[in-house]
Amino acid sequence: MKEFDLIGRYFANGGYQRKDVLVGIGDDCAITTLAENQQLAITTDTLVAGVHFLRDAPARSVAHKAVAVNLSDLAAMGAEPAWISLSLSMPQMDEVWLAEFAEGLHELTQYYSVQLIGGDTVTGPLAMTITAQGFIPPGSELKRSAARPGDWIYVTGTLGDAGAGLAILKGEVEAQSPERDILVNRHLYPTPRVAAGTALRRTANACIDISDGMLADLGHILKASGCGATVHVDRLPISRALYQHAGAKQAYELALTSGDDYELLFTVSEEQRGNLETSLASTNVKATCIGQVTGQTGKVDLKLYDEPYQPPEKTGYQHEF
Ligand code: ADP
Ligand code: MG
Repeated sequence: MKEFDLIGRYFANGGYQRKDVLVGIGDDCAITTLAENQQLAITTDTLVAGVHFLRDAPARSVAHKAVAVNLSDLAAMGAEPAWISLSLSMPQMDEVWLAEFAEGLHELTQYYSVQLIGGDTVTGPLAMTITAQGFIPPGSELKRSAARPGDWIYVTGTLGDAGAGLAILKGEVEAQSPERDILVNRHLYPTPRVAAGTALRRTANACIDISDGMLADLGHILKASGCGATVHVDRLPISRALYQHAGAKQAYELALTSGDDYELLFTVSEEQRGNLETSLASTNVKATCIGQVTGQTGKVDLKLYDEPYQPPEKTGYQHEF
């Protein structure tokens, strides 16, 4: 199959269509209109087979994840997603894989009213780069640098599930049903917290999505904001499935250090704290307070029931070059 047939069959048709896209797939560029009172938020993420996803991962999951990690970055900024482009590199033509990949991509973009507006298709090692763009009203972006001493630290959802799911898939640990399916699914099909991200615009100060691990990503906020933090390990939101599967001690470690949960971690001032529940009410997303920002630059105090808690050796994932 030739490049253009492939694009026509799997990507140009069947996806979500937006009114603000004047020219979509098929020309040299996509052309979109922009609302006057909006800023553009732009983010790019690459997924490489064997690095960011297991080589035998279902194609639907690979597509889901490639889109989700980008929408998660938009959410972490408070932006509402609008368009994505996809650069796809594949070693050979595999129609079964591609059909499943396209289905996963269209499924998620449909759900979030996002249009695939262009891309590139090449032969090479299995990898994909997605660029996502979204809107945010001027001045309401949730920057990493906006945390202040005294802010309360919150996380959405539960932590550590995706990390446990990955270990299960890699055969590093055994797991029973139904916990196995719940944890593996959280690794394969992460939920970007899109509605929570936009809902937090007026309430949160700093925000980040948890892709590398809670401590690592909290570290990014603290560094950018010149602050420290106290985190209560016993308050970390842990799913019932993870407790059942791993027990409390291992669950804490996963919640602190394992990546790929794509929950939002954000800080809220004392004054705004009362508005948080109302802000999130329409989103069906639960947020849990896990600690507080301090003025002690770069210092993270971990507590377990108010006693010092020994920090894990490895705090998060980083690529080695
Ligand atoms: P050009 O030669 O101008 O780079 P291409 O031949 O790469 O254009 O692509 C033709 C059209 O198909 C363009 O509109 C491009 O954006 C789109 N396209 C190519 N690959 C993909 C893909 N994987 N997903 C979505 N759109 C794609
Ligand atoms: Mg090209």
